[in-house]
Amino acid sequence: MNPYSTQLIEEEDIKAVIKALESSNLTQGKLTQDFENNLCEYLGVKHALVFNSATSALYAAYKAANIEKNNHAITSPITFAATANMMLECGALPVFCDIKRDGNINEKLISSLITPQTKAIVSVDYAGNSVEVKSIQDICEKNRLIFISDSSHSIGAKYQNKKIGTLADITIFSFHAIKPITTGEGGALVTNNTDFYEQAKLIRSHGVVKKELWNTDVIKSGFNFRMTEFQAALGISQLKKLESFLQIREEIAQFYDKAFKGNPYFFTLHQDMPHTTTNHLYPIILAPEFWCSKEDIFKALLQDELGIQVHYKPVYEFSLYKKLLGEMELPNARDFYRAEISIPCHQKMDLEMAKQSAEKILKVFENIKTCL
Ligand SMILES: *Cc1c(COP(=O)(O)O)cnc(C)c1O
Repeated sequence: MNPYSTQLIEEEDIKAVIKALESSNLTQGKLTQDFENNLCEYLGVKHALVFNSATSALYAAYKAANIEKNNHAITSPITFAATANMMLECGALPVFCDIKRDGNINEKLISSLITPQTKAIVSVDYAGNSVEVKSIQDICEKNRLIFISDSSHSIGAKYQNKKIGTLADITIFSFHAIKPITTGEGGALVTNNTDFYEQAKLIRSHGVVKKELWNTDVIKSGFNFRMTEFQAALGISQLKKLESFLQIREEIAQFYDKAFKGNPYFFTLHQDMPHTTTNHLYPIILAPEFWCSKEDIFKALLQDELGIQVHYKPVYEFSLYKKLLGEMELPNARDFYRAEISIPCHQKMDLEMAKQSAEKILKVFENIKTCL
């Protein structure tokens, strides 16, 4: 099975992890700090905190931004559940804003959703392609909202030549196994705001501050959301290779763009992306006459050993959210879910594998019935 995304672990990654396992500290040591410093340097951001997942980093971000009971945060329904789930954990509610053709939040619809309860805009860089940062910054400034970016897909991506991570008030990255770089499980929170950084750091580790000698104080309620030293070792090693991973993904994506150009079955998002993407996903968007056959297409692709997936079922369609928010439907998010399939695109592939995938995919569509 060729998965839609996967990790590439090489000799030097394994050596780095073994070395960390043989060291005296398995947690709370120097490697975690080194990884954070390397992230700051690579991204050009003031503060970085690594976490045991992006989910816990999102939680810490919302808490640091004081998102609380009775607050609302405007976000995209085309995301992984964690973006919205962590709002619920803070006692706040997500307000879902419809998307554009590229899967990202439609910045033009945001203002109409703002109420006195709105505290933040939480955008998602779908597939690794930046949202329209400038528009969102302007809306946040005008309405005194906090801009949080769930950039779980987009470490290494750029918006107008500026790296993702420097643009929102707080940016979250994921190092889950199949994200652009990995620590197995893991995530990071980055910010230029020292207050957000200090608050998130307390939440990461029990709200504890050191006083002198054995004396500590707890000044906030917190968790253990820490990353281990051997995960940080893997992160340091992976971060060195991020640019080369992104280059391979971009080559595969460009190959697909050409191979699929002008086909009658689906269009692809990559060639029209306005910003430098990571290609965490390579989405194909089925023509409407194929929507009713999506199950058959999906099964046939799996049969051909293509580990495809659909990103994402709109979060408001989950039963939990229906209970909390009532039935709702956003037309573009609905149609995107009906049309989207993510096909294999990752750093373990070469152009020969991309060629085989493209041929298999086109062949599957040749044998599928249309329904209009
Ligand atoms: C993967 C992902 C997350 C969660 O990341 P974890 O590291 O698995 O907790 C959150 N948001 C988005 C958009 C993601 O893709």
